[in-house]
Amino acid sequence: MSENTIAGTMDSDEFLASLRALLGPSDLKVGREIPQAHLSDWSGESGGAPMALCFPRSTESVSKILTLCHQHRVPVVPQGGLTGLAGGAVPSERCLLLSLSRMCAIECIDSLSATATVLAGTPLQQIQEAAEAEGMMFALDLGTRGTCQIGGNIATNAGGNRVIRYGMTRELVLGLEVVLADGTVLSMMNQMPKNNAGMDLKPLFIGSEGTLGIITRAVLRLHPGVSGANTALLAVANFDTALKLLNFARRQLSDRVSAFELMWADYVEGVSALPSIKRPAMESAPMLVLLDMQGPDPEQDNAVFLAMLESAMERGWVVDAAVAQSQREATEFWDMRDAVAELLAVHRPTVNFDVSVPIACIGECVERIRAALEAAYPEMERFFFGHIGDSNIHLVTGPLPDDPAVEHHIEAIVYDLVRAYAGSISAEHGIGLHKKPWLSHSRNDAEIAVLKQLKATFDPFNLLNPGKVL
Ligand code: FAD
Repeated sequence: MSENTIAGTMDSDEFLASLRALLGPSDLKVGREIPQAHLSDWSGESGGAPMALCFPRSTESVSKILTLCHQHRVPVVPQGGLTGLAGGAVPSERCLLLSLSRMCAIECIDSLSATATVLAGTPLQQIQEAAEAEGMMFALDLGTRGTCQIGGNIATNAGGNRVIRYGMTRELVLGLEVVLADGTVLSMMNQMPKNNAGMDLKPLFIGSEGTLGIITRAVLRLHPGVSGANTALLAVANFDTALKLLNFARRQLSDRVSAFELMWADYVEGVSALPSIKRPAMESAPMLVLLDMQGPDPEQDNAVFLAMLESAMERGWVVDAAVAQSQREATEFWDMRDAVAELLAVHRPTVNFDVSVPIACIGECVERIRAALEAAYPEMERFFFGHIGDSNIHLVTGPLPDDPAVEHHIEAIVYDLVRAYAGSISAEHGIGLHKKPWLSHSRNDAEIAVLKQLKATFDPFNLLNPGKVL
């Protein structure tokens, strides 16, 4: 797509004067007033110099801002909680940054219809807590829950820890309100699980990373509340055994496995070296599974959970097990899995991967990636972990030498192998800027052509998050 914005030639004084007339003085920052935190996201990817940053407080305000940007051909970069790992929210040159953080409210929790209606800038954790207060659960859960916003979660189609039971964000969104590039408010605030009145437009915006519209409100699907979980750390000998265990646990626990996280020995060693991590005394093994079964009555579930573990041990699939005896212990187990941010900080600079391959191929694919990286960069650390029940492998490699060619070479090694398994270069974090050069590893030419046509239909002047994804 051609960069046909005319931001470089427009009269920015006139544009900023019109923008000031739309926003209160505390809702607009221009040039050097823009806080550093808005100049990148968690990926650390750098972008262009933005012209201004605005904080609209309503859909009407977003609509007026986009209408103005459309008239002046000013590019707009939507920002949520800035926890993205793909560089999707970093500024483009002379853009208007549009932060949703002041559109933060839970409009309604309807426990009878099992829905929540929220504004896009609401932090995920706030929605989880509001649902819980009504005896319900919003099932999306990520380590960044306190900072990321539901609009960002929807724009990235976030995955997280419970996909195996409740699905990705896409499965949890019933309705959406989106403002299009020309300021049109597209209200699709459907509240019903069933609605086949013509084609559904919502899914186009879920995972569109701010390139098709600005998400302003959403109707979310809730589930019955849970009051806790049975949690265990299980030592297993190899990937094939872990997979057998996964399928066995799902069957024995009537598909109530809410997390099945696999941590290879390199990851376990890496996080165990962190001062904050308390690792339970267990036999060392090539991998650890973190298994969670949430329910409304974990005490009642305990017997079936332990019986399943006992059977798995009798079958020789589990070498050693630590079952959490308290919430504190369960949290300590989860701390091992959630310590990624600290791991990244220790081994910076890193290259991080968020890939998926068909579940049955994960073990072989990981070993091929590991062997290829070991051969090319024997000095570099590698940490493999993932949401295995969801086909998702994460890999952190580092520290990296100060040489972009090395980063590119490491990406080529990993993404070529992922392509060989018909996998995806992004399981859950999105494409953003970071993975854009590799998109064709996971999308064929015909798909990319249709995606470009869609972008041109919704945003003919390429104003929404230009230069990202495609
Ligand atoms: P941002 O980072 O602000 O933006 C992300 C993208 O969405 C950008 O392209 C932005 O332009 C666009 N966007 C934001 N808001 C809107 C809006 N209202 N309308 C339109 N476009 C918008 N991700 C997972 O999926 N699973 C995980 O388990 C997970 N774990 C993580 C752990 C750590 C330690 C970190 C740092 C990140 C993790 N992430 C994970 C990535 C990140 O938290 C998610 O991608 C999250 O959904 C981003 O939300 P955000 O509000 O921070 O969005």
